[in-house]
Amino acid sequence: MRIVFFGAPGSGKGTQSKRIGQQLGIPQLSTGDMLRDAIKAKTDLGAKASEYMDQGQLVPDQLILGLIEDRMTHEDCAKGYILDGFPRNLAQAKELDVMLTEKGNRLEKVIFLDIDPAKVVARLVDRRVCETCGAEFHLENHPSKTEGICDQCQGSLIRRPDDHEGKIKVRLDSYVQLTAPMDQYYQSQGILAHVAAEGEISEITERILKSLTVD
Ligand code: AMP
Repeated sequence: MRIVFFGAPGSGKGTQSKRIGQQLGIPQLSTGDMLRDAIKAKTDLGAKASEYMDQGQLVPDQLILGLIEDRMTHEDCAKGYILDGFPRNLAQAKELDVMLTEKGNRLEKVIFLDIDPAKVVARLVDRRVCETCGAEFHLENHPSKTEGICDQCQGSLIRRPDDHEGKIKVRLDSYVQLTAPMDQYYQSQGILAHVAAEGEISEITERILKSLTVD
């Protein structure tokens, strides 16, 4: 199973792709998490990426493509994977098709998480993420048991630097201009499924699982 998740910032890609990955027994490959790890590890890639990420802008394609291509060759990807946050524009989508075709593979499904753009800002400003394990919480919809502390690993919960209003606007603009056009691309390949991304987290997971089992 090779699956792509895409949708606006705040549509729940990270949360849902982790849950679906666990259910299907395949890894969730998040380019955002990989870049944040590179920043934490103070690598050259991390230094270059943070210049863009801190502004809410997409990182240049050439920094992303090698990173994801390398990750897809790891042993845990043999049965498939969920791509979360990649591809993020048409050039990356086309490049992914080339990478897969070279290996005799193809994408099975692209899940588009559909959310009213007016709801996205509220989701993001109140999002909190664990500094240690990356688990996501929300102050209202999905609070941690102890304020500021991760339920899973007891790490500290922080607000992502790009989850502040000004940066959210830049991310939304970039989503509309660069990421949303992938909808047409995958529609024409006949592998796109739209899933309503509003409601209880578990209900959304069920909807996604259903859309993965129907052709
Ligand atoms: P995310 O965790 O998916 O919200 O990504 C956080 C940030 O990482 C984005 O705003 C971009 O700056 C960068 N990023 C993640 N994935 C990509 C990608 N495929 N292409 C370019 N930039 C990316």
